[in-house]
Amino acid sequence: MAILPLAMMDNRVLHQKAKRVRKIDGSIQKLFDDMIETMHHIGGAAGLAAPQVGVSLQVVVIELPGEDVITLINPEVVKSWGERDVTEGCLSLPGYRGEIKRSESVTVKGRDRHGKQIRLKADGLLAQALEHEIDHVNGVVYIDHLESVDNLYQIEPEGEDELGHI
Ligand SMILES: [Zn+2]
Repeated sequence: MAILPLAMMDNRVLHQKAKRVRKIDGSIQKLFDDMIETMHHIGGAAGLAAPQVGVSLQVVVIELPGEDVITLINPEVVKSWGERDVTEGCLSLPGYRGEIKRSESVTVKGRDRHGKQIRLKADGLLAQALEHEIDHVNGVVYIDHLESVDNLYQIEPEGEDELGHI
């Protein structure tokens, strides 16, 4: 396992649609292991998408506090309901937060790291994390959702919280 360097917001990999995973082989398992280790190393991280470690593949890990790690391959939001205002940040843009809108709840389908088909319905922080990470594999970042640049602001490093780490 290895801790991978993070791609920052100016990296092209974050702004292009990632490739679908066709075959779940050893290299995908290693990617999952490395992404999970990287997420744990960062501490307080709620999720990570492969483009954030410079790999243009549709691979996502999510771990909310006190919950098991969710692994996702080729995830898609198939349904979303409602709208709510959230404060969001991204590991690829440290020190910033933005006020954006996210769905109240989502249904997501994909496969887990073992190839098992999964479909999950989520709301709250998990729905937000899923939308954030699935955006990443589609080349979208949260600042793309800002209605105005006034809704993006800098925070003090000690103001970092788990919500910011996705
Ligand atoms: Zn992010």
